[in-house]
Amino acid sequence: MIDSHAHLGSCEPPPEALVADARRVGVERILTIGLDAASNREAVRIGREHPEVFVAVGHHPNSAEGFDGEAAALIEELAADEVVRAIGETGLDYYRDRASEEAQVRAFEAQIGIARRRGLPLVVHLRDSAGPGAGRAVADAFELLAGEADGLDVILHCFSATPERAEEAAGRGWHVSFAGNVTYPRSEELREAAALVPDRLLLVETDSPYLAPQPVRGRPNAPANVTHTAEVVAAARGVGYERLDAVVTENAARLFRWSG
Ligand SMILES: [Zn+2]
Repeated sequence: MIDSHAHLGSCEPPPEALVADARRVGVERILTIGLDAASNREAVRIGREHPEVFVAVGHHPNSAEGFDGEAAALIEELAADEVVRAIGETGLDYYRDRASEEAQVRAFEAQIGIARRRGLPLVVHLRDSAGPGAGRAVADAFELLAGEADGLDVILHCFSATPERAEEAAGRGWHVSFAGNVTYPRSEELREAAALVPDRLLLVETDSPYLAPQPVRGRPNAPANVTHTAEVVAAARGVGYERLDAVVTENAARLFRWSG
């Protein structure tokens, strides 16, 4: 089993404990995700110290205001490290207004360029505002990715859009990663989406320390908990846990060049 998206540096327990707990339940590889210069550096450090951990470096849309050439150059430089296997998380977040939409788009486009030059997959965060204008972040991001990310391996992390969008993403060859929110009682639509994604494009993740799955909901999340999410996704797809494990482990190994 794998966790395709965690923020180990933001978790309270040290990475050693998180990795050991994950191993005990069969989670053998973790992609830890940077959000800004400091967390990118920390993620690379954690990746170097733990053979189970690989790294994505990027700049989160919520802090995209002020993202400049220097910030982009640092990501590109870190991306040359052997433990870095993806760029992100980047994307669009219209739920929070800490960064203008223009700044988010600029940072997103810059990271698409880095992923292309480094030959690395792109980890995409999408979050919509509620109420009027709901769906715009997903619509804008899909349009931008369709226009500019051709040929890149795209991963829609913490997929939270409609089943129709999951089908559209799969049609474009983008990977769809499900997080703890797929396990919540009211997430019927997300489980429907999880059933629609073809095997070769499916991933699971924790987004630790956020979004703990139902059995541990309300507590800080940890990579070991990806097993709960995987169980629910397996059930939604009408397959057993072992089958789901094999599918997502193979996909992550291919995308992030994980061996063993
Ligand atoms: Zn994240």
